[in-house]
Amino acid sequence: MHALIVEQLHKVYATGFEALKGVDLAVEEGDFFALLGPNGAGKSTLIGIVTSLVNKTSGRIRVFGRDLDQDAEGVKASLGAVPQEFNFNLFLPVEEVVVNQAGYFGIPRPEARARAEFYLRKLDLWDRRRSEMRLLSGGMKRRLMIARALVHRPRLLILDEPTAGVDIEIRRAMWDYLRELNADGTTIILTTHYLEEAESLCRNVAVIDHGRIAAVSETRALLAGLDIETFVLNLKRPVAEPLLLPGFSVTRADATTLEVQLHRSQSLNELFDALGRRGIEVGSMRNKQNRLEQLFLEMVERGREGSTVAA
Ligand code: ADP
Repeated sequence: MHALIVEQLHKVYATGFEALKGVDLAVEEGDFFALLGPNGAGKSTLIGIVTSLVNKTSGRIRVFGRDLDQDAEGVKASLGAVPQEFNFNLFLPVEEVVVNQAGYFGIPRPEARARAEFYLRKLDLWDRRRSEMRLLSGGMKRRLMIARALVHRPRLLILDEPTAGVDIEIRRAMWDYLRELNADGTTIILTTHYLEEAESLCRNVAVIDHGRIAAVSETRALLAGLDIETFVLNLKRPVAEPLLLPGFSVTRADATTLEVQLHRSQSLNELFDALGRRGIEVGSMRNKQNRLEQLFLEMVERGREGSTVAA
């Protein structure tokens, strides 16, 4: 059974901009699936259409076999949505946000209260149950959106950038909870532009770019191509050309800037040791590209070589 099937989905916004250009996608029940892509790729548009926040231009959506056009209520009942924008009544206490949501799904009041307590505890918000929404931190609001999306026990949970703006510690706790939900049988689809998030959570991933699916693959297989990472090092003192560092591929961009390519089998410690032996001190360092940009470059190159990433 598929949790979600998207066929030939097109979206043209009122401005005339074509945000989705014929997207096909299938997500199996039980999967933990990432929609990965740079800003503006069309991820939120796609998710917005599946969760009935955005109208499609054409195409077909089915959720657990139910067609969105024919059974919008059935689709809504089987999915929980965590949109990017906070869309609550800001003066409502936390617990009421969740209880009211249960009301929309016809869940009786005592059961709604019990579920609200369950999910607020799970998401570490129970102590804040009487706080007004507007007094919560960004991370707490995000978790409240998840509790609210779960209260009718959807079989499919869809999250749009669930950890954007959330600090690292809370992000890890959210990841743990999402893993637990998935292990308990909830199918999860999330959008992210953090490669690390997809890598850490998701079994399968679709890469979306300029409104098209660029690749669909197991996360592991997709990332296996990312063998080389390029670092830019700013040196404390100028170095003379040429600089040979056995075992490393080094380019001298200028007298105080080196670019070093590190294979995944090499560690930064080895690099710093080798530099240290040459008396070279590094003042600061950055990644030349983020890994997502690198992934796109490698996909383009693989495409040129005639191989394909898409499964
Ligand atoms: P992502 O979630 O991948 O960042 P979006 O789906 O938000 O991408 O946006 C895809 C493209 O559609 C972007 O170029 C964006 O500017 C455009 N877009 C999004 N919403 C609207 C809108 N309401 N009207 C016009 N263009 C929009």
